[in-house]
Amino acid sequence: MTEAAFYDFFLWSWIGLGAAILVVLFFVTAPYGRHAKRGWGPRMPATLGWVVMEAPASLGFLAYYLVSDRRGEPVSLALLVLWELHYADRAFLFPFRRRSPGQTTPVLIVASAVFFNFCNTYLNGRWLFTLGPERPVSWLADPRFVAGTVLFVVGLVTNRWADNVLFRLRRDAGPGYHVPKGGLYRFISCPNYAGESLQWLGWALATYSLGGLTFAVWTLANLLPRAVSNHRWYKKTFPDYPPERRAFVPFVW
Ligand code: NDP
Repeated sequence: MTEAAFYDFFLWSWIGLGAAILVVLFFVTAPYGRHAKRGWGPRMPATLGWVVMEAPASLGFLAYYLVSDRRGEPVSLALLVLWELHYADRAFLFPFRRRSPGQTTPVLIVASAVFFNFCNTYLNGRWLFTLGPERPVSWLADPRFVAGTVLFVVGLVTNRWADNVLFRLRRDAGPGYHVPKGGLYRFISCPNYAGESLQWLGWALATYSLGGLTFAVWTLANLLPRAVSNHRWYKKTFPDYPPERRAFVPFVW
């Protein structure tokens, strides 16, 4: 089997699995953070877990870029910068900004995220830098790239802002969970998840690739059901939780 044939087979299987996971996660909430539970096997420090989970995506994408003949080309370089704006931060800075001292996480969660990141990084990095069509420099002015990049950056800024609001809550109000307020939190419980989903929908458009689309599908599969669980959890935990606030989409859901 050629790598191109393997890629196609893997891509469609991965999209199918992502759709199935979307359904499963509405019934089983991943047991980390506020939904942590006993009984998911051995555990490891959560900060280390985040680095181990996310580093393969940052380093793997960089490696696909470096071994490619297309390195140094403007489109490849622009895509590398977008990806690393997210993943270099997510793998090497974000874990140390969190304020959950002493927290542990199941090794099983870390292992599944590592697997997810290996597959996702292969489907994106290998396609964009080697297997997919070479994009001319004019792609940088293509409306799909421009609109996708705008969505990506808006999503990234929203995600980081929303995570920082949560970190500041613990700095200012002490350990435990508090009701976040202000900005997008007036409308939805999880603007960090909504921002991240927008980001990868933008990536799918900017790369105009099925690999990018699968990433968006998987992100929604992970984050939509979790936003619903978090929203339910907030309403149960805080009796005065703002009733007009939705889970994921302002005014709608
Ligand atoms: P959460 O919103 O559950 O938590 C983010 C951080 O804020 C954690 O450190 C959490 O602490 C803390 N926190 C959450 N709510 C409160 C609160 N009400 N009061 C005080 N502190 C709070 O996000 P996740 O941990 O699920 O995800 C972290 C990031 O990773 C997000 O940006 C998310 O978008 C991204 N992500 C992306 C996925 C993808 O598939 N692309 C999948 C999963 C996450 P604690 O850990 O103690 O709960």
